Amino acid sequence: MTDIQSLDPADWTDLRALGHRMLDDMFDHMQTLRGGPVWRPMPADVRQEIRRPLPRAPSPAAAVYRDFQRLIQPYATGNPHPRFMGWVHGGGNPVGMLADLLAAGLNANLGGRDHAPIEVERQVIAWSAEMLGFPADASGVLVTGTSIANLIGVLIARSAELGPCVRRDGPGDARLTAYTSAAVHGCLPRAMEMAGLGRESLRMVPCDSQGRIGLDALATLVATDRARGLRPFLLVGTAGSVDIGAVDDLAALATFAATESLWFHVDGAYGATAALAPKLKPLLAGIERADSVAFDFHKWAQVPYDAGCIVVRDAARHLDTFAADAVYLRREERGLAGGGIWPCDLGPDLSRGFRALKVWMTLSVYGADRIGAIIQQTCDLAAVLADRIDREPDLQRLAPVALNIVCFRYIAANGDLDRLNADIVADIQIAGVAAPSTTVIGGVLAIRAAIVNHRTNRADIAILVDAVLQAGGTRAKANESPG
Ligand SMILES: *Cc1c(COP(=O)(O)O)cnc(C)c1O
Repeated sequence: MTDIQSLDPADWTDLRALGHRMLDDMFDHMQTLRGGPVWRPMPADVRQEIRRPLPRAPSPAAAVYRDFQRLIQPYATGNPHPRFMGWVHGGGNPVGMLADLLAAGLNANLGGRDHAPIEVERQVIAWSAEMLGFPADASGVLVTGTSIANLIGVLIARSAELGPCVRRDGPGDARLTAYTSAAVHGCLPRAMEMAGLGRESLRMVPCDSQGRIGLDALATLVATDRARGLRPFLLVGTAGSVDIGAVDDLAALATFAATESLWFHVDGAYGATAALAPKLKPLLAGIERADSVAFDFHKWAQVPYDAGCIVVRDAARHLDTFAADAVYLRREERGLAGGGIWPCDLGPDLSRGFRALKVWMTLSVYGADRIGAIIQQTCDLAAVLADRIDREPDLQRLAPVALNIVCFRYIAANGDLDRLNADIVADIQIAGVAAPSTTVIGGVLAIRAAIVNHRTNRADIAILVDAVLQAGGTRAKANESPG
């Protein structure tokens, strides 16, 4: 055997200096974000340069870091930038970045066992329960994002309906049906697929003019399905629809679910954290009566990716769905193999990282009230944007603004407006000025600005509108000129 070698350096001086430089560089990056482009397309040669064979031989860390600076950092998504308004992306925050560094340093595995990092995750779940108005003994677990949190919600609802034996026997020929609004996020049909229940078993109920689930249509659909011999088991409310930010009447849904004995799950991916903003909280009334809520810390709560969460009112139901059979045999009273319920018995993951730390540090350093104030601020900016759009003759607003999402389009006398607006969005993304995204509202293509980032201010809103008007004007003029 050759000499035993670890990956740690024999002399830490250089790596330590490099690490300090990386940290300084990242602080500089955050400090100067606003002056740079939101996003820039990745040149073909950069893409090509990233594609290399498996590196068999070592390279100096400083050289690899230079590659990061040259090939990766300039071409990232751009969501930390104040004028990134596409989809619903969080801005992250510097304290969360530091927490991720600390978490990687500890390299804790939060699948189980008895240690402080798991205690921190339990604390984050308890804070989440408090935020939502859930009982203090509610259960929960952190996951990558709401897509997985929603899947966990569907699986718990499934075993609550059929009993934990569904884990052994599968759903058999029970024809379970679930209900949600037509504005549902695409991850819910996928959750139904993965739960073995089939996408078609998710009934999409038409929305009202505000984008909320239609309550009469819901009642009719459930009654019709029961009459057909189907077995309604789950109602999914939406708190902050992905298109326009609509919030269902959660109190009415809670009552309906109780009357019909349905599991009541809320997809509050980004909207649930509005509970931290006193003026917005009333919009969520009824969420405290849900059986489970899925939401993200990485969106409105500004925690760096990834940090999703599910909170479950009835801890026993949660455990029934995921706990390994031999769970209590494996546990010890004393030592590292002790310590109460392990996260691996609350979801599909065994090994899990310490994402709880960046949530814990973000909430501890800034305080939940400050995060709530940021959430309120983004809604106030959305109102400013909506107001400006309503005053611009060349712009048309396409949806009501319940929270922080504004959908609108540029209007021109002739030409294909859908094409025109898609081009406008691509133009200003590629120019690096701002990054809204697009969606379809009432059959027409909309420019969609979701104000999520704590760094966005009034000047950014003005820059977005000016850029849309300018790009729209240029393109409309080009369309008019012959040839
Ligand atoms: C973002 C979002 C999701 C998916 O969450 P991920 O964290 O991206 O997995 C689900 N539902 C809604 C309403 C969302 O906005």
